[in-house]
Amino acid sequence: MSSEVEYDCIVIGAGVQGSFTAYQLAKRNKKTLLLEQFVLPHTRGSSHGQTRIIRKAYEQDFYTQMMDECYKLWSQLEREAGVTLYRQTGLLVMGPEHSDSYLLYKNTMERNNVPMVILTPENFSQHIPNVILAEGDGALVDINAGVLYADRALKTVQGQFQKLGGVIRDKEKVTDITPGPVVTVSTSAGVYRAKSLVITAGPWANKLLAHIGLQLPLEVEKINVCYWKEKVPGTYDVKKRFPCFLLTEGEESDRHIYGLPSNEYPGLVKICYHVGGETDPDHRDKQTDRSDIGILQRFVARCFPGLIPEPAVVESCMYTGP
Ligand SMILES: Cc1cc2nc3c(=O)[nH]c(=O)nc-3n(C[C@H](O)[C@H](O)[C@H](O)COP(=O)(O)OP(=O)(O)OC[C@H]3O[C@@H](n4cnc5c(N)ncnc54)[C@H](O)[C@@H]3O)c2cc1C
Repeated sequence: MSSEVEYDCIVIGAGVQGSFTAYQLAKRNKKTLLLEQFVLPHTRGSSHGQTRIIRKAYEQDFYTQMMDECYKLWSQLEREAGVTLYRQTGLLVMGPEHSDSYLLYKNTMERNNVPMVILTPENFSQHIPNVILAEGDGALVDINAGVLYADRALKTVQGQFQKLGGVIRDKEKVTDITPGPVVTVSTSAGVYRAKSLVITAGPWANKLLAHIGLQLPLEVEKINVCYWKEKVPGTYDVKKRFPCFLLTEGEESDRHIYGLPSNEYPGLVKICYHVGGETDPDHRDKQTDRSDIGILQRFVARCFPGLIPEPAVVESCMYTGP
């Protein structure tokens, strides 16, 4: 399909970044087109799945400070659409008490006055039952952290964008970009023009940027998203106020391990390793490295006595970063 309409802006990629960008543009009365290569909704990028963690506990001030606005924007969207997208659970951060990684979290939170509770080895199990805190580990809780309902958020924000007059074209892969005062974007189904262009293509960013002779130092990793079965259903349930959690480093690895309470799949807790094997986003499932699962099994056996240390479900997602 060819279009004579000239948009104020074209956004390429309808993951969480592109969908929210398009929605914010439409709110500012910009005539916006959102292009997506797959039929929506899909599970082939980085934004699918039922849950994500939202938190102020970060290692860098920049992220922590950005979160004030983020929380406001999430609740604004909830109000506008009449949908619940956030559930407060708190985030438990654990790690060797005197390690750089743990102290980075603690100090950033203190510096930015993030509401938190410091747990001691003596009162830990009273607040967080059924988790073993390693000897020498510190523990704190980012009280206002919680769960975001990811799939629901995408559907909601795309719906709000359309209500504001925004146009979504899915199953349209962008195949070429011609820069200029008016940018021309060709897809598998048409040609579109706009005054400006936003590329939010996640793992495919460099494939798109190649059309305009640019490359960023990005690597794409496949993450095995693992769900672990509770021995007694409900032990780590969101309804029992079990928190999200993050281990900065531990006996099994010096990299992060994080998880969310059982919620989307009843009786299953999501626990992932923050590192994966390098992959090409068009061939994600050819990356079959499962060494992270061994690390997670040892972590689960050591720290979560109420879980069976064998993943019951393994899904895939991708990280893109430097
Ligand atoms: C396992 C996992 C756990 C995570 N946990 C958290 C968490 O707890 N908290 C948190 O804040 N973040 C978390 N993240 C990170 C967060 O999910 C990502 O940062 C976010 O989803 C990235 O969104 P995106 O829009 O940049 O990318 P994507 O969702 O990948 O979107 C890019 C879109 O662009 C489309 N596209 C690409 N090329 C083209 C083309 N040529 N034409 C048209 N469309 C194209 C793709 O199909 C895709 O839909 C997690 C990520 C993973 C994988």
